[in-house]
Amino acid sequence: MSPSRVLVLNSGSSSVKYQLLDMRDHSRLATGLVERIGEQTSRLKHTALTTGDTREYNGPIADHQAALKAVAEELARDGLGLESTELAAIGHRVVHGGMFFTEPTVIDDAVLTEIERLIPVAPLHNPANLTGIRTAMALRPDLPQVAVFDTAFHTTMPESAARYAIDPKIADRLRIRRYGFHGTSHAYVSRATAGLLGKAPQELNVIVLHLGNGASASAVRGGRCVDTSMGLTPLEGLVMGTRSGDLDPAVIFHLERVGGMSMDEIDTLLNKRSGLFGLCGDNDMREIQRRIDEGDREARLAFDIYIHRLKKYIGAYYAVLGRVDAVAFTAGVGENAAAVRAAAVAGLEELGLAVDDGLNAVRGDAPRLISPASARVAVAVVPTDEELEIATQTYALVGKDD
Ligand code: ADP
Repeated sequence: MSPSRVLVLNSGSSSVKYQLLDMRDHSRLATGLVERIGEQTSRLKHTALTTGDTREYNGPIADHQAALKAVAEELARDGLGLESTELAAIGHRVVHGGMFFTEPTVIDDAVLTEIERLIPVAPLHNPANLTGIRTAMALRPDLPQVAVFDTAFHTTMPESAARYAIDPKIADRLRIRRYGFHGTSHAYVSRATAGLLGKAPQELNVIVLHLGNGASASAVRGGRCVDTSMGLTPLEGLVMGTRSGDLDPAVIFHLERVGGMSMDEIDTLLNKRSGLFGLCGDNDMREIQRRIDEGDREARLAFDIYIHRLKKYIGAYYAVLGRVDAVAFTAGVGENAAAVRAAAVAGLEELGLAVDDGLNAVRGDAPRLISPASARVAVAVVPTDEELEIATQTYALVGKDD
């Protein structure tokens, strides 16, 4: 039998998340996380889903190489080691693929060089992704390694949506354009929404609202992305946990000229200290809802600003698509916060959008409709699964049928 397992690696600057899946039945064999790499207080948490065993290691893990070695050892203890002949490939999440990578790609030296060339547009993410890839390649040089890009799904955006209204010569020289992110999730959720409605993706126009700590919306026409709310970087668009999303670019000049802040300080302010956190001191929607229930006005205003922006994007993407068949909520907030879903579509009945309070209150892991049966547009909760999507795309590229 040909190998059917795929290890999915998501390497951040100080963390590695991983999942081992069997693509014959999409079952998960193991999952885990290494965090605070490079500190004294690193932590590895590993769960073997074959046995239900969870193990935790606390102590220094010096770098990504040590982290991956530790992961490999944990997998080996469950008989799932990286040397196993059942492993078909390793799939890597890569945040920025620029315009170059429109598809998942088997990694070779030329691919590594191109991911490296994109570091100026993804200074935080691509170096960490590269470290993960290089370490995994050193551990299993004979195994296909596949890069799955967060930006790839959005490369179908027309130029009218992807370009900023600035001098194209400057834009092209510096590769300034709207790339979009969370593409793996938007791809998975738009397809799963079609599945939920018993339609082919080609038949459906969907607005996907990925509302996690980072948040983005996309307009998907017939399975292809035609607009998305994140841009050159993940800072543009919706109000997020700690990112401001859209603002007048002149706010940046003002912060520098009048506020005396440095560019690095402004970068930190807008990416790490804004959004819900900047508005009310909390970025967790659960905490914000708790505070609202207690009558907290700061939390209420933060929620209202978040919803106002979300609603504006629903309206904008309705106009972009012309006809909308479904709106899908996903990620931590989208899957769990019924109040956010209800508020986001409240008042949009004229557009055919409504939520049934009873259905909206139901919790669960399965994709589900929350709009009334009579509604013109299906409103759905569709849990995302970026790891499964990365594994599926990886396996499609390297897997051989028995
Ligand atoms: P990311 O992958 O971007 O870190 P997630 O998609 O895991 O984020 O979403 C995390 C966010 O989801 C949390 O910050 C919190 O705001 C929200 N969240 C998680 N569970 C709930 C819940 N039960 N109710 C409301 N919000 C929730």
